[in-house]
Amino acid sequence: MTDTEAQLLARIPDRLFIGGEWVASSSSKTLAVVDPATGNVLKRIADATPADGIAALDAAVAVAEKWSATAPRTRGEILRGAFDLLQERQDEVALLMTLEMGKPLSEALGEVAYGGEFLRWFGEEAVRISGRYGRNPEGTGQMVVSQRPVGPCYLITPWNFPLAMATRKIAPALAAGCTVVIKPAELTPLTTLLLARLLEEAGLPGGVLNVITTSTSAEVSEPIIADSRLRKLSFTGSTPVGRKLMIQASANVLRTSMELGGNAPFVVFGDADLDKAVDGAMQAKFRNIGQACTAANRFIVHSSVVHEFASRIAGRVAQLRMGRGTEEGVTIGPLINDMAVNKADGLVKDAIARGASLVAGGHRADSPGSFYEPTVLVGVTLGSEILREEIFGPVVSITEFDDEDEAVRLANDTEYGLVSYVFTESLARGQRMIERLDTGMMGLNAGVLSNAAAPFGGVKQSGIGREGGTEGIHEYLSTKYTLIPSA
Ligand code: NAD
Repeated sequence: MTDTEAQLLARIPDRLFIGGEWVASSSSKTLAVVDPATGNVLKRIADATPADGIAALDAAVAVAEKWSATAPRTRGEILRGAFDLLQERQDEVALLMTLEMGKPLSEALGEVAYGGEFLRWFGEEAVRISGRYGRNPEGTGQMVVSQRPVGPCYLITPWNFPLAMATRKIAPALAAGCTVVIKPAELTPLTTLLLARLLEEAGLPGGVLNVITTSTSAEVSEPIIADSRLRKLSFTGSTPVGRKLMIQASANVLRTSMELGGNAPFVVFGDADLDKAVDGAMQAKFRNIGQACTAANRFIVHSSVVHEFASRIAGRVAQLRMGRGTEEGVTIGPLINDMAVNKADGLVKDAIARGASLVAGGHRADSPGSFYEPTVLVGVTLGSEILREEIFGPVVSITEFDDEDEAVRLANDTEYGLVSYVFTESLARGQRMIERLDTGMMGLNAGVLSNAAAPFGGVKQSGIGREGGTEGIHEYLSTKYTLIPSA
């Protein structure tokens, strides 16, 4: 570990953030945060108990009314202040994400830009929460429709985008006038602790944002979700965990937002511009070392271009450099842990056993840390697990098709529906794909589409609700209708 890294880690809070105070866990237990590139412990932080979780909810409930009554402009200015602080400290935030999650530093800087944008965007949206007003059809009264904050929220985030997944929930919730308890993933909690510190420095009153870090997520979350004072659960993570949480949330008929798994098809038609398609594929597949819910999971390529596409991808893969994300020139960091390496390796082996051929990679790397070689498989056959499961690793899996209907059938053949990518130079075909592909988002000749101004989210088992855009703040607002009879 370099001196800069050690100094940064020493500055990160190692406690829970409850009611505006940094406090130890009530059990005094700690959990270790590990560098996936080396397996070394980076830092030990407080390991919250269920009682700490309830204390955090108590704090959020205590200031809920006051925060909802705070002027929207004030709420917006605090978010804007946090955005500015994040820009000033972008190098430190990026380095922290690379250390705890493994992504290359240049990508971590990209996440600071993307994740920070939610603070600015929702800071701006805070003052644009509006309703409507009109006469009822009978002409006997006035109908007023207004928006109110839903109330205290519980936010659960995954490890793959430690900053953006937190700001994408915290910013709209705070802008709407809700107070929150956030529980980051136990694998990457440090970025959320640093973000809480920035919001504190930006003037956020105590109790509006509470952070609990824990190695026992299920035990700590259950009583919070069961508490009748909680009004909303917003979760980003895997579909199996999302299903469990929806069952728990049903007891109190809790409002929920679910940003779940993906299994994105990446369809390349025979009329595609292959330069664009290959660039898009490299972004859609290898960003975040393949560990994105939006990662291209199934490449579905027309038979007339499949050989050229695969060989160009293999050529680009050969230029990728694997290593610790802090090293200059590294483009592929480690996977999050050895379990992720085993999963990717298992999927590759299963695909080969069912007839696929390996064009590049195909092995775990012979080095400390959780590395898996960038891999390209062609001729992946129907029935292979890699077509059903989220790979969450740097593996390109290519299947070919002959006509448009077959491409649509293959692309939609999944329980997920988060995002699809389509490459074609035909506008008419692109328009047909917008209509026919069952996903909440689509990149038409684009390999990356996330943007704070866009509604991010899926259909089918990829989730419920949208984050970002003008839609994002409505996840944290309730509609109220008031009738005022004419005088
Ligand atoms: P995960 O479901 O294992 O964990 C997500 C979060 O839930 C973590 O904070 C974890 O500690 C917590 N958790 C796990 N079990 C829990 C339980 N029983 N009760 C309460 N909390 C629990 O997912 P992950 O491995 O951290 O993240 C990867 C998954 O997230 C992938 O499936 C990916 O597609 C998905 N994801 C989706 C989006 C999206 O916007 N749709 C974005 C990023 C990641």
